[in-house]
Amino acid sequence: MYKQTCTNLLEQPPEKVKEWLNTFDSVITDCDGVLWVYSNVIEGAVDTMNRFTALGKNIFFCTNNSTKTRQELLDKSHSMGFAITADGMISSAHSTAAYLKSRDFQKKVYVLGAGGITGELDALGIQHTGVGPDVMTGTVAEYLATNFHLDTDIGAVVVGFDEHFSFCKMIKAASYLDKPDCLFIATNTDERFPMPGMVIPGSGSFVRAIETCSERKPFVIGKPNPSICEWLINDGTIDPARTLMIGDRCNTDILLGYNCGFQTLLVGTGIHKLNDVEAWQISNDPEEKKLIPDVFLPKLGDLLPFM
Ligand SMILES: [Mg+2]
Repeated sequence: MYKQTCTNLLEQPPEKVKEWLNTFDSVITDCDGVLWVYSNVIEGAVDTMNRFTALGKNIFFCTNNSTKTRQELLDKSHSMGFAITADGMISSAHSTAAYLKSRDFQKKVYVLGAGGITGELDALGIQHTGVGPDVMTGTVAEYLATNFHLDTDIGAVVVGFDEHFSFCKMIKAASYLDKPDCLFIATNTDERFPMPGMVIPGSGSFVRAIETCSERKPFVIGKPNPSICEWLINDGTIDPARTLMIGDRCNTDILLGYNCGFQTLLVGTGIHKLNDVEAWQISNDPEEKKLIPDVFLPKLGDLLPFM
């Protein structure tokens, strides 16, 4: 129904929208830009998600944000009124730790990121370096002669969102990755977070920097890579054909839906808007065609009258 047509549900007859609501039993939703923007909940999002639960649908929150642990995301969701369980939380930080665990990783991780990653590594008993500032004082030559040390136990470099990203960290990450057996993992590759009057660089910016100086490509855990939620499909928790993916960013959320065979809903409360989709619809680039969602709503709460 509506496959990759970006149909505006508000322009459909109500009975059609109700019919569409019966085509899925599981809902995976992005968080920032769909449910909330930073610490502000988006109008109608809580009631809509809780209504899905009341209707018997299985709901999951899926975020590329690697700065928080699943428990922190759960606490944030509960404080806003979302009735979600720990099992319903999918995060790039947790999935990164789970990926390393599944490979029986026994060495230590160099973390270029924040506490969300180290918290999830701790939870699975995986050793790691600390997070926070690592800055150059004096010249590069002085730094290399005095403060520069490489840890011989490092077997993986994980890059996520790091507000303390620095030249020192680039030197270390690239040096560790110079060993071919050192794993290179990116929690996600979101490019940026536009805000009124400014742009905040996303994890993808840091990942690109490390790609360049290491001359390597990372394994990407986060959306649009199916590895962030593949286990839900593999263990039969969700049926891809009867799963709806909701997002505000097409090259992560909607593309994940495309890659996993989910239905897709774009909401206009975040990154991508209808004019972005219109450009992809007339493009001849097959990669851009993958970004076109099935349906569109200005905001998630617009669904409530039909539920
Ligand atoms: Mg988002």
